[in-house]
Amino acid sequence: MIDFHCHLDLYEDPFQVAAECKRRGVYVLSVTTTPMAWDGTRKLADDASRIRTALGLHPQLVGERKNELALFDRLLGDAVYVGEIGLDGGPEYAASWVDQVRVFEHILTSCRAAGGRVFSVHSRRATTPVLESIERVAGAGRAVLHWYSGTKRELARAIDLECWFSVGPAMLRSAKGKALAAQMPRNRVLTETDGPFARMADGGPMYPWHAGDAVDMLAEIWQLDASSVRATLDANLRDLTSQI
Ligand code: MN
Repeated sequence: MIDFHCHLDLYEDPFQVAAECKRRGVYVLSVTTTPMAWDGTRKLADDASRIRTALGLHPQLVGERKNELALFDRLLGDAVYVGEIGLDGGPEYAASWVDQVRVFEHILTSCRAAGGRVFSVHSRRATTPVLESIERVAGAGRAVLHWYSGTKRELARAIDLECWFSVGPAMLRSAKGKALAAQMPRNRVLTETDGPFARMADGGPMYPWHAGDAVDMLAEIWQLDASSVRATLDANLRDLTSQI
């Protein structure tokens, strides 16, 4: 099972959730929201070869945390994965928009200089600007658009830009999310949860092992049985990790 975008450090008891991931053998990309969280979050992956930590600076926090960009650059040499990064075009983050674009493109440029990274990208209400930045700073590595919510036309552009996608149960519950997932190239899709931010349909907390629900939903959307979907996702993860 694969949860390629999860905030392990933000659960009430991160060590207990990490231990349960280990017990269940879940592959986790443990994303962070600020460079300051990197050291502590990395400890959750000690002795867990299937948990990888990503170095991030969340666009919703850029306004208050942009001064951590220098720390990001210092830590990047130790990080194979980057995230959560990106842009948020919501009106509540409009004041930081110019900084968001500057920080996002700075990070992409740093990734390129470091030889390329796999990065998990937030693009809420900002799909086109995110794609424009990825296009402007070509060679930063492989973008995985997490919880993609743009239009079908923007999706076609993302596919042209060789983006990957991570989709979770919360996204796939909606008709729009299902229609988008149906259009994604199956060899560039991974599952995610975005826990603990994303919630289960009944409002309960979503844990990394709930990525299995997304497998069942993809099976329905793609008209395959769940074991074929799992085989596809496992092959995709191997493919993606072999690119870095
Ligand atoms: Mn997230």
